[in-house]
Amino acid sequence: MNDRYSRQVLFPGIGKEGQAKISKKHVLIIGAGALGSGSSEILARAGVGKLTIIDRDYVEASNLQRQQLYTEEDVAEKLPKAAAAEKRLRAINGDVEIQAIIGDAIPELLEELVGDVDLMLDATDNFETRMMMNDISQKYNIPWIYGACVGSFGMSFSIIPGKTPCLNCLLRTIPLQGMTCDTGGIISPAVQMVIAHQTAEAMKMLVEDWDAVRTSFVSFDLWRNQYTSMKMSKAKFAGCLSCGEERTYPYLDHENMTKTTVLCGRDTVQIRPSAAGEISLEQLSGQLSGLGYTVKGNPYLLSVEIGTERIVIFQDGRALIHGTKDLTHAKSLYQRILG
Ligand SMILES: [Zn+2]
Repeated sequence: MNDRYSRQVLFPGIGKEGQAKISKKHVLIIGAGALGSGSSEILARAGVGKLTIIDRDYVEASNLQRQQLYTEEDVAEKLPKAAAAEKRLRAINGDVEIQAIIGDAIPELLEELVGDVDLMLDATDNFETRMMMNDISQKYNIPWIYGACVGSFGMSFSIIPGKTPCLNCLLRTIPLQGMTCDTGGIISPAVQMVIAHQTAEAMKMLVEDWDAVRTSFVSFDLWRNQYTSMKMSKAKFAGCLSCGEERTYPYLDHENMTKTTVLCGRDTVQIRPSAAGEISLEQLSGQLSGLGYTVKGNPYLLSVEIGTERIVIFQDGRALIHGTKDLTHAKSLYQRILG
């Protein structure tokens, strides 16, 4: 497939030289939901050298409306999104090295991973992870591209260490914490618009055309027909704990990471075990079936029915408890199943 990238090479902003650069770059995408599905597909098709994608969830029917990598078969198999994304991305472009990680993007994991990463893309649904990406970006000098959407509204901003303000600086101007995904649903075109902004900036950075990179903060509402681009050069704050002179990277402090979280916009609680370690799903499945529980699963996870609730357990001991937002109750169910 020699002419695979011909149209992209013909594009003056990329050319042969740019394509050669793209093919040597490593992009880390955090999250394989709506934004991660789209941006990983675009970058795989564009011929990036390596893609690493991290996600903690599995594919459900309500994802199919906007998460373009997934199919009804993935829903039926309850495949983890990272595994389903890997399968699909490999089918799209066999030349791209794909590293898929089923798990939570915690600071330790990111610090281990980012050694040869050239760029990070935000495809998460929560503020905690974004702030952590922001600190990793500053500490290891890796650009990252923020992106978020809800309803018909979306926004994006490129963060280049030493050049632009960071996300922590921006919070003084824009109250981004208020953006959650559980208010009023979402339409796919809003997702695609954010993906278009993030991946266009990503391509500029991958070909090292730094002058072309957008430095303004973009936000839009596709239903209300609004599009805004705000200059951000004055938002950089000297006292910022993430990018300022006396930085401490507060979001990389593991003690600050919550172990039990209500997942964005859902009746689901995630519990992460305090000690890391693999568990044998096969053994656990046998034990729980023996105790009379209804257990289903695949090589990556087990799904156990407990009355009206359902607990999904991953190999790393992490669990999603569906049907509740009550942290104490979720913890007691976790204890019951995993001791
Ligand atoms: Zn800052």
